[in-house]
This record gives sequence, C-alpha cells and structure tokens, in this order.
Amino acid sequence: MDLTPDSNYKLTTQQLQRLNDRFALIHPDYILRWAFREFGTGMVLGTGFGPSGVFLIHRLSTLGLPTPVFFLDTHLLFDETHVLKDELEERYDIQIEAVPPSLGLDEQAAEHGPELWKRDPDKCCHLRKVLPLQNYLSDKTAWISGIRRSQGDVRASADMFEWDEKNGVVKINPLIHISAERVWSDIKKHNLPYNPLHDDGYPSIGCIPCTSKVKFGEPERAGRWKELDKTECGIHLPKHGMS
Ligand code: SF4
Repeated sequence: MDLTPDSNYKLTTQQLQRLNDRFALIHPDYILRWAFREFGTGMVLGTGFGPSGVFLIHRLSTLGLPTPVFFLDTHLLFDETHVLKDELEERYDIQIEAVPPSLGLDEQAAEHGPELWKRDPDKCCHLRKVLPLQNYLSDKTAWISGIRRSQGDVRASADMFEWDEKNGVVKINPLIHISAERVWSDIKKHNLPYNPLHDDGYPSIGCIPCTSKVKFGEPERAGRWKELDKTECGIHLPKHGMS
C-alpha cells in the first residue's frame, strides 16, 4: 500500500477497506508494528487512561515503539487519573503530553456561564476536548485510540483503520475486537497500574462532573453523562471515509 508522505496519508474508502480486510482479526501488536513502520512518530496514541489505554501503552513499550502519548487535559479529571499518569510515566520512562483547552475553567465560565457541562455538555466537550484534539493533531499523520466495539452503539461500528475527516489524519483502533475481559486479564497478568476508581464502581472514567458509578450489570459506559442523552464526547464519532 502506498502511504508515502507525499500522499498526505489521505486514505480513500477503497484503501481503508483493503487495510481493514488485511488486518481483520490480527493481533494488536502486529498492527502497532506495521503502523509505526508506515507513520513513524507522526503517529500518536491518545488515551484517557482507561484500561485499554494502559494496555496499549504497555504494548508499545514492550514492542520498543517510541510512539508519543497524549491525553486531553480538560482540567476536570480525577486526582486518581493524574496519579495513574505519573505512574505510567515512571514505569515506562515516557512523558505523556497534556493537551489543554484554550480556555481555563474560569475563562470558560466567564464566556459561557458557570458549569457549562450541566447546561450544554456538547459545547463543553467541543471546547475542552474536540477543538484541542483538532489543534494537536494538525501536524500529525495518524492517531491510535483504544476504543473497542463492545463499548457501545457508536463504537460497535468502528473499524480498525478509519479516515478521521474532522482531524485530517488516519485513525487506528487496534483493539476493536478485544474484549474488556481480555484487557483486564493482561493488566492483572503483567501487574500494570490502573485507576483505583475502577474497583469502586466506575468502569469508565472521564471528567469528574460527567462520570458516575454504574450498577452491577449496567453497560461499561453507562456512567458517562448518566442522566443525559449523550454517550460520546465527540472525538470518537462514527467513522468517515474519503471517496
Ligand atoms: S466530559 Fe463533561 S466536563 Fe468534560 S468536557 Fe465533556 S461536558 Fe465538559
């Protein structure tokens, strides 16, 4: 497949289909190695420090791939999430880049009113996650995410390779076929650090105001924007292809 820098890495629907056929059901390690050969350090890993992100950071380190890692620092993350970030940096001898929004919390409150997440969570996510991601990825060629198809309706249709139209980069989801049980099994097997809130009823953890505990048997992401008709922040919306 021709993915030379001159092509700007823009992938057509047909190219994506060929990649997805070629890599269907392939082990994530193989995909990460192949992607690093193609995209080098223009490819980055985005994580919210959930189990899948920890799993991917561990795999990249085990494979010896120096893929930069970043997270969207909304300034509304749990202390436990920041502690986990520090633990991962120390264990893997890496620096995880914080990507902040352009507005501090006070500035956002002054411009858009207090607690925007209660009144207009889509706008809040746009300002604190979607725009910063767009800005950060503007000089990148590809980004890796840890989304899995079993995480819910929107993610159920994710492909391994997608064209992220909004950000103008290739999006790679190497874990789409991996179950939560498999991720946790590796975390336990290798004694990887993880967010202790997972043991306290929070299977999915994001910003403090929009994260709740779930009841036994509820879906993995049921505690995100719990009382709202919202399941995603907008950075993992349905896939796009260029025709
Ligand atoms: S998850 Fe909640 S607090 Fe965080 S950016 Fe989105 S709406 Fe704002």
